[in-house]
Amino acid sequence: GLTCIYNLMGTRMTTLLARKALLPDGWTDNVRLTLDGGRISTVESGVDCGDDEALGYLMPGLCNAHSHAFQRALAGHTEQRSPAGRDNFWSWRERMYELAGRVSAEALTAIARQAYCEMLRSGYTSVAEFHYLHRDPTDSDATDTMFEAIATAARDSGIRLTYVPVHYERAGFEDPEPTSRQATFAMTVDEFLRHVERVSSKSDDTLTIGIGAHSLRAVSRDSLERIAEVAATGIPMHLHIAEQQREVKQCFTSYGRRPVRWLLENFDVRDNWSLVHATHMDDEEIVALANSGAVAVLCPSTEANLGDGLFPLHRYLTAGGRIAIGSDSHISINPFEELRWLEYGQRLVSQSRNIASLRESHVGSELFSRVHEGGALASGQSAVGIETGAPADFVVLNDEDPMLAGHNDDSRLDALVFSGYPFPVERVMVDGKWCVVDAAHVDRDRARTEFAATLETLGSLS
Ligand code: ZN
Repeated sequence: GLTCIYNLMGTRMTTLLARKALLPDGWTDNVRLTLDGGRISTVESGVDCGDDEALGYLMPGLCNAHSHAFQRALAGHTEQRSPAGRDNFWSWRERMYELAGRVSAEALTAIARQAYCEMLRSGYTSVAEFHYLHRDPTDSDATDTMFEAIATAARDSGIRLTYVPVHYERAGFEDPEPTSRQATFAMTVDEFLRHVERVSSKSDDTLTIGIGAHSLRAVSRDSLERIAEVAATGIPMHLHIAEQQREVKQCFTSYGRRPVRWLLENFDVRDNWSLVHATHMDDEEIVALANSGAVAVLCPSTEANLGDGLFPLHRYLTAGGRIAIGSDSHISINPFEELRWLEYGQRLVSQSRNIASLRESHVGSELFSRVHEGGALASGQSAVGIETGAPADFVVLNDEDPMLAGHNDDSRLDALVFSGYPFPVERVMVDGKWCVVDAAHVDRDRARTEFAATLETLGSLS
C-alpha cells in the first residue's frame, strides 16, 4: 500500500491504497491516492486492493479549533475542592494564571509538543493555537520566543498549525488596566499588532497565521476595531465569547447589550470569524450568529470541566449555524469524545435522543461532517476533504478493531463517536508524512520524556 517513487521534478510521489476511504460523497471501497509531496494529486476508486499492504479505513483528520497548549500541564490538577468550597471558572482561572506565570519558552515547547503528539494520536491533524502568552516570564529581553515555542512544537510533532496570536490588554469592561497576573502577558494593541506583523512573514505549507482578541472583557472596543481591520483580509479571526454568565452581565452593564448581540451589531462578523464557546445566547442571538456565517467553536469536555454551561446546539443548528470543536484546556484530547459530549449534553437536558441529526439520520456522521467543515474555516484551510488538490492529512482506522466490527458505511462514524474510549486510530498522516504509526506517535518517547522533565521543573501545580 505505501509505494514511493519520484516524479520528473524530483518531488516525492507516494501512492496509498485503502480498503475504504471517506471521500466527499461518503465511504468508498478500494481507493488509491497519489500524493505529490504534501498534497493529493489523484483519487481513484474501485482499484485492485488485493495485496495485504492496503490500509484499513482512511478518513480526513479533524481540526482542533481551540487550544491553549500550555494548559495541558494543568490537566487533572484542579479537581480538588478548595477550603472555601466555592470552586468555579474564576477560581480555576487563578490556578491557570499561576501556571502561566511559570511557563518559559523552553517549557512551553515541551508541553505543547506533548499536547500536539496526543492530538495527532487521537485523530486531530490540525490545531488552531489561541495564544496570548506573548512574553517569556523567565526572560524579559526575549521577543517572539513564545511563538517560536509553539511553532517548534508543531513542527516537531508534525501537526498542521494555525497560529492565532491573541490580544489581551485589560482586566475587565470597567477596568482598563490588567491585574498583576495578567500584566505578565498583557500588551498594548500597538505592541500586539507589531507581533502579528512579524509572525505573518513566517507562514508556510503547514503554518497559517490568524489573529484574535481574548474576549470582549479583555480587549477594548477601539483595540478590537484595529484587530478586526487586520481580520478583514480574510484570515482566521478568533475570540472567546459568552463563556460565563458573569461576563454576559458585565457586558450588558457596560455596553447595554449581551456579548454576542453587541459583537454582531458592531462588527462585520463573517465566515472567517470563530466565536469560541458562545454558550450563553438568547434566541435572537442564536439566529443572528447562525446567519452571520461565523463558526461557533465548541469545547464540550472543557466547558463541562469548568462548569461553563450548555450550548443551545439544536436551536443553533436548526437556524443553520456552523460549528467546530476544540479541546481548549486539554482536560481531554480526543475529538470523538468532544462530539460524544456535545450530543450527550443535549440528550440529558432534553430527555430525548439523536439531537444533532438534521441533515442526515446518523448523528455520528453528521457531527463529523459539520465539525470537519467548520474546522476548515476556523483554521483557514480551503480544501480539506479527500480530493485532488487537498492536503494529504489523513487518519487511518484499524478495520479489524472490534469497535468497528459489524458496522456498515452508515453507522461506522456512530461507532467511532459513541461506542467507547479506546479509539482504533492506527496511523495519522499530515502533509504527506506519517506522524502516527502502529497507534503511537513516531516521536512519542522524546515528547514524553521532555514533558515529564518539564513538569518536574515547574514544581507543584496541585
Ligand atoms: Zn479558551
